[in-house]
Amino acid sequence: MNVHWHRRDLRAADNHGLAAAADPGPVLPVFVFDKDVLQHGSSVRVAYMLDALSSLAEWYREHGSNLLVTRGDPREVLPALAEAINAEHVLWNKDYSGLARERDAEVRQALAEQDVRRGSYHDAICHEPGSITTNDGDPYSVFTYFGRKWQDREKEGPYDAPDADELVDPTALSIPDRWSTTLPSLDDLGFDEPDATLQPASTEAARERLESFCAEDIYRYDDRRDYPADGCTSRLSADLKWGTIGIREVHAATVEAAKSADTDAERESVEEFQSQLAWREFYTHVLFFSPEVVTENYREYENPIEWREEPDHLSAWKAGETGYPIVDAGMRQLLDEGYIHNRIRMIVASFLTKDLMLDWREGYDWFREQLADHDTANDNGGWQWAASTGTDSQPYFRIFNPMTQGERYDPDAEYIKRYVPELADIEPEQIHSWHELSVTQRQRLAPDYPAPIVDHSERREAAIEMFEAARGE
Ligand code: FAD
Repeated sequence: MNVHWHRRDLRAADNHGLAAAADPGPVLPVFVFDKDVLQHGSSVRVAYMLDALSSLAEWYREHGSNLLVTRGDPREVLPALAEAINAEHVLWNKDYSGLARERDAEVRQALAEQDVRRGSYHDAICHEPGSITTNDGDPYSVFTYFGRKWQDREKEGPYDAPDADELVDPTALSIPDRWSTTLPSLDDLGFDEPDATLQPASTEAARERLESFCAEDIYRYDDRRDYPADGCTSRLSADLKWGTIGIREVHAATVEAAKSADTDAERESVEEFQSQLAWREFYTHVLFFSPEVVTENYREYENPIEWREEPDHLSAWKAGETGYPIVDAGMRQLLDEGYIHNRIRMIVASFLTKDLMLDWREGYDWFREQLADHDTANDNGGWQWAASTGTDSQPYFRIFNPMTQGERYDPDAEYIKRYVPELADIEPEQIHSWHELSVTQRQRLAPDYPAPIVDHSERREAAIEMFEAARGE
């Protein structure tokens, strides 16, 4: 009998490690609520994960098995389980972040000490770190060439889910008491119910999102992906983060969509979407080869960047009370849904680092707490891009103007009004020129909505000076 240790792969289909564990099986599926991981958890993420686990357990029950769970340290509980049930092989899928790699090496060692075979599989991305490199064999630090090679590389197809007869029913085994088939509640794990309303987390829900996206929105993705009111992006980020759907299944669906495209523009639109999947892999590779980016700037400056410390500004940004409507709409979408549209993530991150001149790590920490799709590699990559400290990042002197961004990408202020009800009855032109209105005008139009907390033009100059000082100019 084999054990498959689920981690960020909360699905049965298109799961490389699980497919390997079932061939030949039988396989017992397990999940460990790792105390070290929970320590860094948040209500939003743990709630999303529990929802995904509950649907995974349901899938196993429908197939005559069940998901066995426990709380503890995988370095201790997995070898003990393997010994108790006389498991031949413990398998899992690789996690490419630094801390997870350290932990996995220790689990591997603990199993080896008990003579249990162990194996880890490449699963979360199409192309493993180290498989796409420069011609000299180095990891890429800019996306363009990486992206081209990624597109050209042949991709594996999805793995089948195990059959019922390849699975073990844990009730038929003598399992140590600490393991159970009952999932803990959020409260049991020490978390409150999140305020945000999260999208359903399951393979079924992920497949519905993928299917409906590939039927229509993928063909206008290239044109409309930057317009947050349209909602034409896939919303698959949390599924890919928690593995409720496999990347091979997602990619295969896009290949089919490309075949059904009617025009070159539609085919290019599918490619544009595939290119976002490649960005995700690019950042995973960056994190793998430079694990220090979690806390350190990727790009070196001559001198330290003198970020400001302004707790009031940070609080206003977190609450969506900056007086910049597009920024506030984004920050409130985050609080409402545990999600923000990509263009708006870029705008709010630019605002924090360039207009408020606050350290990108403050923003990253807040996103880590509030995003259901928080992914160390993508979140870090996005923040360092916006802060001009990352790989291939936004040049420090090209600073988003939050008002013109709002005007361009949300011209009718539909997205803004959805999340900032104080502005619901105001004309879009007034919303997009909020910073230019007089105090009296603002008071008359939306007395409950704040005035801008900083002057963008002044801060733009100050931010450029801050970066020039860091560059030693
Ligand atoms: P789609 O546009 O439908 O894209 C499909 C998938 O491609 C996404 O689900 C995601 O897996 C991947 N993807 C898309 N854009 C990017 C990108 N720029 N970088 C890496 N992968 C991408 N993405 C996360 O998954 N988790 C994060 O924690 C995260 N934090 C971010 C923080 C900042 C400051 C910024 C600027 C971007 C961040 N992103 C993050 C990237 C991007 O914003 C989200 O992946 C995207 O908005 C998710 O919505 P979607 O699934 O509808 O995207």
